[in-house]
Amino acid sequence: MDYDVVVIGSGHAGVEACHATAKMGYKTLLLTLNLDSIAFLACNPSIGGTAKGQLVSEIDALGGLMGIMADRNTIQRRMLNGSKGAAVQSLRAQIDKVTYHTTMKEVLENLPNLDIVQAEASEIIVEDGKVAGVLTAQRIRYNCKACIVATGVYLNSKIIIGDYIKDSGPNGFSNASLLTKSLIDLGFKIKRYKTGTPVRVHSDSIDYSNLEVQKGEDNIQNFSYMTKTPPSNVINCYLTYTNSRTHELILNNLDKAPMYTGLITGEGPRYCPSIETKVVRFADKDRHQLFLEPEAMSTKEIYIQGFSTSMPSDIQRDMVHSLEGLENAHIMRDAYAIEYDAIESTQLYPTLEYKNVSGLFMAGQVNGTSGYEEAGAQGIVAGINAVKYIEGNDMLVLGRDTSYIGVLIDDLVTKESSEPYRMMTSRAEYRLHLRQDNADLRLTEIGREFGLVDDDRYSAYLKRLDNLAKISDILNARCGIKSDLAKIFAEKNEAFPSSGLSYAEALRRPCITIDDLLTILPLLNDYPYQDLKEIEIQEKYSGYLSRQDIQISQAKKSENVKLDPDMDYSQIKGLRIEAQQKLNKIKPLNLGQASRISGVSPADIAVLTVFIKTLKTAK
Ligand SMILES: Cc1cc2nc3c(=O)[nH]c(=O)nc-3n(C[C@H](O)[C@H](O)[C@H](O)COP(=O)(O)OP(=O)(O)OC[C@H]3O[C@@H](n4cnc5c(N)ncnc54)[C@H](O)[C@@H]3O)c2cc1C
Repeated sequence: MDYDVVVIGSGHAGVEACHATAKMGYKTLLLTLNLDSIAFLACNPSIGGTAKGQLVSEIDALGGLMGIMADRNTIQRRMLNGSKGAAVQSLRAQIDKVTYHTTMKEVLENLPNLDIVQAEASEIIVEDGKVAGVLTAQRIRYNCKACIVATGVYLNSKIIIGDYIKDSGPNGFSNASLLTKSLIDLGFKIKRYKTGTPVRVHSDSIDYSNLEVQKGEDNIQNFSYMTKTPPSNVINCYLTYTNSRTHELILNNLDKAPMYTGLITGEGPRYCPSIETKVVRFADKDRHQLFLEPEAMSTKEIYIQGFSTSMPSDIQRDMVHSLEGLENAHIMRDAYAIEYDAIESTQLYPTLEYKNVSGLFMAGQVNGTSGYEEAGAQGIVAGINAVKYIEGNDMLVLGRDTSYIGVLIDDLVTKESSEPYRMMTSRAEYRLHLRQDNADLRLTEIGREFGLVDDDRYSAYLKRLDNLAKISDILNARCGIKSDLAKIFAEKNEAFPSSGLSYAEALRRPCITIDDLLTILPLLNDYPYQDLKEIEIQEKYSGYLSRQDIQISQAKKSENVKLDPDMDYSQIKGLRIEAQQKLNKIKPLNLGQASRISGVSPADIAVLTVFIKTLKTAK
């Protein structure tokens, strides 16, 4: 059977990848171990959060699915860091994980050019250094010109609960036991990673009476620019805390904790630690905050955010019962750790194509990341690039100045890592530029150019550009000392310049807001509030943004100095041995990427710069 693209895995990476290739008009096959794992939220029933919210809006701006489906299945949402600067504000939504799966499955089942088959991929078939097909465990061969591997946490995965170990995927799904060998045969270096999830308890067995409630927020931005009706907050979350009894239980049973007995060998995500790791690592803390989050409207299951563990079941039960409000909690699902195979992501180009096999792309947790959002971000790029590969056109490489997606992939393919990679705002040097509110302004044009942004989305984007231009025109009007604006300044004891100033200039004053201007400029009511806020942010940060633009253009200079992927760095005199080894291992595509490789010093970059110049002159 012939396809253009075969996508292995229906998780958050696979869904974005197959949606992109099918929507771009290419015959696509989606292989999955289990149709019920389509877009399955294996762990926290939420999408977004710090930096992750930005990733979701970026996937949306490029024409992806996660933003639209997250808004459609939101049951509560909040803007994190709302009181802080725009650069660190991120949307986080509690998601109905049951309907997220069913609605995503429905979208994919109705997508032209896409076939979905429940089968285990066992081998990637390569001919003359290029992908030629995929073989299933049932020995069915699917021919294809490109293949995207998005196998998540399933490769040779096993779950661990105390000394109970079982070859299994998450949530009782089967694991994938055959494909890793095929990847090793193709030259992939394999790492062993782990992650963990908490218990699920029955809601009716929780005493909420003394627990702090956490409500959702209204009038906040959506994930998707295509969402017309903002989702409503229909559930509450609750807070509880660990206490000395919980900590005592954990410390007294560390000899039964697989993380400490050595039963778990895989490296876990530093920023999503298990509760036993938190109690040991932060011994000075007398309590850790936990969130009780409903998993879906159609179930009583409650997820305890921050309480993942792999302790034996009986200890888990005592740990849960030590928590306020959960003294009589009924545990429906045990917590567990899961270990799985991941690849060394520095073996990939920034296009997510494998360096040793043309047409083979890798996306998601199998690349060593952790998180639905990180997976979706890689899936959409891999999907677009599989199509560009087939077309023989330039592939999409997003710069660190364009997006968190660009930062994520650049970090993956440039920096070797020994633990799962989670996106954080601190990783993005241009984060003031990479805000959640302007993802479309940064990426929709690119998504259009690469063929994934359809007419609906593009016209919505053009409409927004038009709105922003019109709002700027209105705000560029200048006001004198007798104006309504001057009165607002007076009310706020803010000196109004005798030479007057424009509304836009006024917005740069910390005390003047777009809400103030709305009271004196009724014309502004004709425009969406989100667009008014966009202009407000642009004005308020204009100074910082201009400085960042200078940094970006300077950095771009070294990004534009291309390096030959076949260069032998051991031949370059003056380069330190460590740098020669690292450069030969990573084979950076430009000087900028070379400068971000750990172990390559600025002095090495200076040597390389001179070498490149000499080479050019010689040529
Ligand atoms: C127990 C657990 C705890 C987690 N904790 C966190 C956390 O705390 N924080 C966080 O950010 N993220 C966490 N995650 C991770 C999060 O679930 C993943 O990041 C995300 O789901 C990765 O998406 P993905 O698309 O890469 O892979 P997945 O969602 O894992 O999907 C992989 C897909 O590949 C399919 N598949 C695999 N192998 C084959 C094969 N050979 N043939 C056919 N199909 C195949 C599977 O059926 C599945 O559909 C956790 C996950 C688990 C399981």
